[in-house]
Amino acid sequence: MSECLFCRIVAGEIPSKQVYADDRAYAFLDIEPWQEGHTLVIPRRHVDHALVDEDVLAELAPSVLAVSALLRTRLGATGFNILTNVGADSGQEVFHAHIHVLPRHADSPGIRNIRGAIHRDLDEVYALLTAE
Ligand code: AMP
Ligand code: ZN
Repeated sequence: MSECLFCRIVAGEIPSKQVYADDRAYAFLDIEPWQEGHTLVIPRRHVDHALVDEDVLAELAPSVLAVSALLRTRLGATGFNILTNVGADSGQEVFHAHIHVLPRHADSPGIRNIRGAIHRDLDEVYALLTAE
């Protein structure tokens, strides 16, 4: 069994709130969101961070696009912060590459408000994102 938290999430050994997946990437809600709908997009293969090789960002790009479309459609996002931490000095805490996709809205704009107010819990946001 892998020691890596996100490898275990990809394998289904640890539960996650999946919002999207394809053959190379897996996307799920961040457990401690900075915005409602804060999503992590991770490669299925284990790499420590997004700059390990030139393929990582390419593997994640289709999922990042799909997730942003979902957040726009379902939550009304009008902007996004797309960010990835590389290395402990940047604030990386989980050493399996991941891109944070943060939906943003006009009522709380700008990078200084990247940690927004959370009114709906994870289950409620998940229901909005996954309703048929
Ligand atoms: P970073 O600081 O870029 O390494 O971000 C790691 C992110 O993973 C943080 O935003 C955490 O809230 C998130 N996280 C940690 N454990 C889990 C989990 N089990 N499910 C979902 N998100 C998680
Ligand atoms: Zn891993």
